[in-house]
Amino acid sequence: MVKRNVLLNPGPATTTDTVKMAQVVPDICPREKEFVSIMREVEEGLLKIVHADPAEFAAVLFCGSGTINMDICLNSLLPEGKKILIVNNGAYSSRGAEICEYYGLPFINLKMPLNRQPDLSVIEKTLQENPDIALVYTTHHETGTGLLNPIREIGALVHRYHGMFVVDTTSTYAMRPIDMEADELDFCMASAQKGIMAMTGLSFIIGRKSMIEASAAYPRRSYYCNLYMQYAYAKEHGEMHFTPPVQVIYSVRQALQEYFAEGEENKWARHCRIFGAIKNGLSKLGFRTYIPEGQESGLVAAALYPDDSHWDFEKVHDYCYERGFTIYPGKVEKMGMFRLCALGAIDQEDIEAFWDVFEEALKVCEVTTPVIYHE
Ligand SMILES: *Cc1c(COP(=O)(O)O)cnc(C)c1O
Repeated sequence: MVKRNVLLNPGPATTTDTVKMAQVVPDICPREKEFVSIMREVEEGLLKIVHADPAEFAAVLFCGSGTINMDICLNSLLPEGKKILIVNNGAYSSRGAEICEYYGLPFINLKMPLNRQPDLSVIEKTLQENPDIALVYTTHHETGTGLLNPIREIGALVHRYHGMFVVDTTSTYAMRPIDMEADELDFCMASAQKGIMAMTGLSFIIGRKSMIEASAAYPRRSYYCNLYMQYAYAKEHGEMHFTPPVQVIYSVRQALQEYFAEGEENKWARHCRIFGAIKNGLSKLGFRTYIPEGQESGLVAAALYPDDSHWDFEKVHDYCYERGFTIYPGKVEKMGMFRLCALGAIDQEDIEAFWDVFEEALKVCEVTTPVIYHE
């Protein structure tokens, strides 16, 4: 058997052995009918996770990490002469803004505080003052901090002003329950190595077919990363335009079977259990977290570095890593933080075992516990 590591980084996630082993299959050409039928099954499963009606929505698959989805949605879905609004309160929405810059797309970068949910009235005012905004983009869960954005409320505003709502759901999809219609989503996205707990290399966008079809008439800004081209090709041929990540797709098929066997509600309850155990351990040791309670995703805790000269993230990390637990640095500039994430095929017991190791690491480093903060 393969050694089991508990990954507390924000993806890739810990996978089951059955998902790992699902990749070991006889060699196959992805143009064969047998493989095309697996692609179909995967697309259907991906839609079902967000309760998307296949008559209204399509799942479009791409070979790449999650950032490819962001790139594709932003470059493909903007009509000529219109603007994008980025509701930006974290590193991932900032990446969206950077993508707009790279393509030279007209956009408004609406920067909001990083440690609390956005002020909806500011978003509404921006929409009112800029009737040429066609696409509003944000991140459901800013994985860098653990902040959850109120997408349903933002989406309702976007639709009141007749915009298209595109949300990066990479770090909530298949974890927090999502419903395309009820959550006011036109497009969402994720990749295989996060919520569905499969391997890296496959990413997917779920979006309204009518909007994808309308985008056929929009400027084409990328050859490889064009949403309409991939959608139209899959519709006609049942497969990806270019070579798919064949073995990863087998792992995704297995992971989807395991997702539906566990069930949406049970899976979310498990993530909540894991997160509860993470928060418990942090508070026992006196760690402060960056995002206030009630505004957290329930999937990532960002803990502030203590004011202790013995604290050394690298040393603590290495001690835990050698014992099968991976922790991760934070993602807010000039602020010392580390993250513990509730993703993957793990449960409460794994977190309890982790805290034993983490406490030993603090002892070895001679960090005072409960940890100290000066202010
Ligand atoms: C992981 C993640 C991505 C994708 O990052 P990659 O490094 O390209 O896999 C995008 N958005 C969010 C919110 C994420 O958590």
